Amino acid sequence: MEHNKIKHVVIAGGGTAGWMAAASIAKLLGRTVKVSLVESEQIGTVGVGEATIPTILTLHELLKIKEQDFLSAVGGTFKLGISFENWHDVGKNYIHSFGFTGKDCWAAGFQHFWLKGRDMGISKEFGEYCNEWLAAKRNRFAVLPNQNLNYAYHFDSSRYAAFLRKMAEEYGATRIEGKIQQVHQDSDSGFLTGLTLESGQLIEGDFFVDCTGFRGLLIEQTLQAGFDDWSHWLPCDSALAVQTMNVQPPIPYTRSIAHEAGWQWRIPLQHRTGNGMVYCSKFWSRDEAEEKLRGNLEGELVTEPRPIKFTTGTRKRHWVKNCVAVGLSSGFMEPLESTSIHLIQRSVVRFMQMFPREGVRQPDVDEFNAQMAAEVENTRDFLILHYHVTDRTDTPFWRYCKNMDIPDSLQHRIDLFKETGRVFKVPTELFGENSWVQVMLGQGLYPQQYHSIVNMMGDDELKQFLDGIHSSVDKLVSQLPEHERFVNHYCREA
Ligand code: FAD
Repeated sequence: MEHNKIKHVVIAGGGTAGWMAAASIAKLLGRTVKVSLVESEQIGTVGVGEATIPTILTLHELLKIKEQDFLSAVGGTFKLGISFENWHDVGKNYIHSFGFTGKDCWAAGFQHFWLKGRDMGISKEFGEYCNEWLAAKRNRFAVLPNQNLNYAYHFDSSRYAAFLRKMAEEYGATRIEGKIQQVHQDSDSGFLTGLTLESGQLIEGDFFVDCTGFRGLLIEQTLQAGFDDWSHWLPCDSALAVQTMNVQPPIPYTRSIAHEAGWQWRIPLQHRTGNGMVYCSKFWSRDEAEEKLRGNLEGELVTEPRPIKFTTGTRKRHWVKNCVAVGLSSGFMEPLESTSIHLIQRSVVRFMQMFPREGVRQPDVDEFNAQMAAEVENTRDFLILHYHVTDRTDTPFWRYCKNMDIPDSLQHRIDLFKETGRVFKVPTELFGENSWVQVMLGQGLYPQQYHSIVNMMGDDELKQFLDGIHSSVDKLVSQLPEHERFVNHYCREA
């Protein structure tokens, strides 16, 4: 069974994960395999997931998606980072931008130069040395021919799934409407063999991609992959999602506003704003969360607040037998840094890199699972950082987060930065040094020392160095149009 050739891939579920998988596999491998996708309109999708990170551009390039057509179809806007408000402490805000800040040297990151300048009283705010940060602050944006700005997108999730569906169908994927009632396994090997729908239709396949969302119908309910529960580190377990009319031009960044027992997102699209509250039900009731959310919305409601429950964590194995879990079926860690859609695309690309054309081989399975585990653990640490390194002690929730035990891997990174100012990226991890530095400084963690190589520069030289970077950032940003003006000109929705 395990060495059967893979001729038919069946994707269960048609949310962002399902259609991203279908479009990618059909476009990139469609001549060699048949692709079918089953989804149930009656069940629907999770209906959130509207902010992304820059890696999405790489997948879109692979799929040859034309940016302007895509943005106009999904009511999309541009995203230069996330504004974290009240996270360090009430009233203290910072932006984690997608850019690079300042200039490094071989021995030391820019933060070392900046820290000395700060001691001397000549450094501006850390972000002032970063194109994306300043452009976000000033509400400016353009797609530059020389790629001088790193950006991602905000989009309407249902329109995105529809956009990908159209693409997948054009590349030959077949959509089957219906609710999966039964999952069949080979009695000897336990490999999946088919899905029976409520209508009685049987869909047989050689390989299955589980995109059924939190249910994990194939990977967990059938194959029992197991789940690592991380809710002691990432304690939020509930969300309320609501859409509102725009009351101001869309800004080029996501807002994440911390509250007493959670945080609120604001995602500006062309035609509306996506909002929601992520909170911890141990510290806040639904009514308390909803009252806070409603009190902090701008604009008329387009939808009523919709509850979503989740448990943070990851499947112990993302690939089991002839089934790979993609999207929420593989786990969920918090929408705080918009990493879920990125992880969908990593799973899809990784699966295609290890595509088992001649049948499933266990070394592929083990390699896939090891790579996914490393990737989600690094991402997990980065997310925990936001909750744990804070000066907030004003509510039981924040006191819990500040005092909770954290993974050793994260404790090491925090200690290293605090004592030496150093940050090293794990080779395979998503977030680079600059992201870690921005968030650690933003959350109020300041290193006790800077690298001695900085002292090779005289004081005047350091001033010139810092001022030179800032003025070139300022010059570039001053030439950019307002974000909304650029959107209207470049990709206005049809
Ligand atoms: P779903 O959208 O739930 O799709 C599941 C599919 O499976 C549906 O088509 C459903 O009909 C089908 N299905 C299920 N059971 C059956 C059955 N028995 N028979 C047939 N079909 C079935 N990610 C980001 O990257 N950025 C964000 O800003 C972000 N914000 C989020 C906010 C919240 C509150 C939450 C909870 C998540 C957020 N995410 C975000 C994650 C993101 O929403 C998901 O990763 C993404 O939408 C993919 O979901 P999915 O396709 O795995 O699942």
